[in-house]
Amino acid sequence: MSGLRVAVIGSGPAGVYAAAALSRAGNVEVDVLDRLPAPYGLVRYGVAPDHVKMKSVDVALRRILEDPAVRFLGNVEVGADITRDELMTYYDAVVFATGAAVDRRLGVPGEDLPGSFSATEFVAWYSGHPDAELDLFTLQATHAVVIGVGNVAVDVARVLTKKADVMAGTDVPGHVLDVLAASAVTEVTMLGRRGPAYARFTTKELRELGEISGSDIIVDRPTSSSPSRRRPTSRPTGRCGPTSRCCASGPPARRRAGRGGCGSSSGCARSRCSARRP
Ligand SMILES: Cc1cc2nc3c(=O)[nH]c(=O)nc-3n(C[C@H](O)[C@H](O)[C@H](O)COP(=O)(O)OP(=O)(O)OC[C@H]3O[C@@H](n4cnc5c(N)ncnc54)[C@H](O)[C@@H]3O)c2cc1C
Repeated sequence: MSGLRVAVIGSGPAGVYAAAALSRAGNVEVDVLDRLPAPYGLVRYGVAPDHVKMKSVDVALRRILEDPAVRFLGNVEVGADITRDELMTYYDAVVFATGAAVDRRLGVPGEDLPGSFSATEFVAWYSGHPDAELDLFTLQATHAVVIGVGNVAVDVARVLTKKADVMAGTDVPGHVLDVLAASAVTEVTMLGRRGPAYARFTTKELRELGEISGSDIIVDRPTSSSPSRRRPTSRPTGRCGPTSRCCASGPPARRRAGRGGCGSSSGCARSRCSARRP
């Protein structure tokens, strides 16, 4: 075969679908290199273990890697084991699809204090990422705070809130399951810097929070003049899309002493959403 030889760096969905497109072009041999021993990037090590349907995309990715024109080479870190210049001597082209592995730091005081972690660390731990420290998390605190209101924040809040026996049906690693089973966490607070209209999670992810058995969702209503907290009648599902409308459709406001963050007493217009389990 005298076709092109292409190296794709990274075996996440971007890298694997790039390999598929290249191999479909015909007369192209593709090597997919990854620093990890196993392929699929964040599909394997990021998508939450209880999102079984989403994780099953690995079936489609595996089919691509099984194409005779495509090879997967794990345990090869470009930049450490081999340089870009070296790759260029073996391949006609190099495609970089290395994802976004680095955290964005908040730059707030206390960010590095004990008990403060990035979502990347927590997600890597519960996903069994080879880089993760096995005993980094003990979950002995009763109240966890998740900063951010995107889908990753929802994943983290959900994993912290779900009971271990529910997680047992997933591919969550055994050592994580043991910690979840012994978890002391009874309250998880998600903090967003702006109101619900700016939240980045999808309705589907939000809805899932309301479906966790044995847990309760409390959503602070974000108004600066008369802050209040309303509890949805059952769960934030169905007609309720954005959290603000869920708040508005719930029963009359119920005030409680602020527990830190942007509670009712602070008069601040930020949103806070708590999931609690008994
Ligand atoms: C916590 C979390 C949950 C998510 N949940 C969902 C979800 O439910 N649904 C959804 O659609 N998306 C979800 N995503 C997003 C999705 O996982 C990413 O959009 C997708 O994986 C990005 O694909 P990628 O190929 O660009 O990068 P990645 O999946 O990150 O893959 C990059 C690959 O490059 C490798 N690599 C990096 N540097 C090197 C190097 N120097 N040499 C060799 N290899 C290298 C890495 O090991 C990795 O395997 C989630 C993301 C996170 C973080």
